[in-house]
Amino acid sequence: MNWKFRTSFDHYKSLYFSCKICGACCFWFVNIGVFLTKYDTVRLGRALSKFEVFELPRGVIVAILGTKKRGPGIYSCIFQSERPGRCAIYGFRPLECRLYPLLLDVSEDGSILFHLEHCEGLSLEPSEFDLRNINRLLSHYFEEKDFELMEALVLEHLQQKKGLRVKLIEPDIYGTWKEREEIWKKVVARIDGDTVDEIINSLRRSYDEWRRDVVGSPYKLRMVSLLRRTGIRIQHPIYGELGEIQSARVPLDEKIKELVLNYIIEFFRRERTFSFLKLYEVSLDDEISVLLSVLSDISLLLRLRREPDEHWLFKCISYVDQFMEYYAYRVRPDIVSRLERELFSME
Ligand code: SF4
Ligand code: SF4
Repeated sequence: MNWKFRTSFDHYKSLYFSCKICGACCFWFVNIGVFLTKYDTVRLGRALSKFEVFELPRGVIVAILGTKKRGPGIYSCIFQSERPGRCAIYGFRPLECRLYPLLLDVSEDGSILFHLEHCEGLSLEPSEFDLRNINRLLSHYFEEKDFELMEALVLEHLQQKKGLRVKLIEPDIYGTWKEREEIWKKVVARIDGDTVDEIINSLRRSYDEWRRDVVGSPYKLRMVSLLRRTGIRIQHPIYGELGEIQSARVPLDEKIKELVLNYIIEFFRRERTFSFLKLYEVSLDDEISVLLSVLSDISLLLRLRREPDEHWLFKCISYVDQFMEYYAYRVRPDIVSRLERELFSME
């Protein structure tokens, strides 16, 4: 098949992936399991005679894999152990898991989009897969039938013509994805700073200025944190104790600063992925709340090293970026609860 695809991370000069089989991508803060294609159910059937799925009424995604509660507000796939570890059905795992840390979507023009979620397996140094060569990664992890999904997804998308209008500003200002992207481009173009906290402040100022010029009315910024802080100790809900804060302020060298700015650019491009954000009309105010919260957790984690380098920054990003749904849930619990309810109550 001839691929027509785009990636949301093409501004990285180098980006590599080698799965550490750590299992962290199988844990979530929302009770929504892995989406299954028709072929996933066939493949799972080869591994097991019985498995728990929730059927969806139609479309390319036909079911959702069951989940297990692992703690207050923490869920995992039924095939994961209590702590993140090895997948019990690794050779038969569904397409969504084979693709991770890439996420799949379809653009308005019908090309396939690959977005990135940062996880432990990513690095800037050469390792198993060069993520700029997606075909090689797919040929390694996909079976032939998985490739058919790409065409089916594009067809479904074009038939449904989804995502044409999105909510931009509460309560009822709508626009296209293109307009939304243009707005973020403008906001991001004005940010700068020598620490992540300065970048956060300039991002907030830039967004406020844009909003004041266009809308005028005030809005509510909702800041949340995934991490627990006891004195100088930092605790992660999945990874446990991460260490002690070493410094109050971490100046960024040019290399790290560029990576932080790239992460912000990528964040907005990637938001297309969360089709429920389109479906449930998450506004720009919610998006900025999620991003500023994520960045302030990254800033806190960076301070666990006296002199963080770009590898530590990548690690800090992976500690929070993989659990984006936590921030989305806390910023807009009404939306995610509705999604959970609707998905699991489908007949
Ligand atoms: S989080 Fe990344 S490194 Fe860990 S198992 Fe998942 S894909 Fe592999
Ligand atoms: S099927 Fe395996 S890889 Fe996929 S979410 Fe479940 S445990 Fe993780």
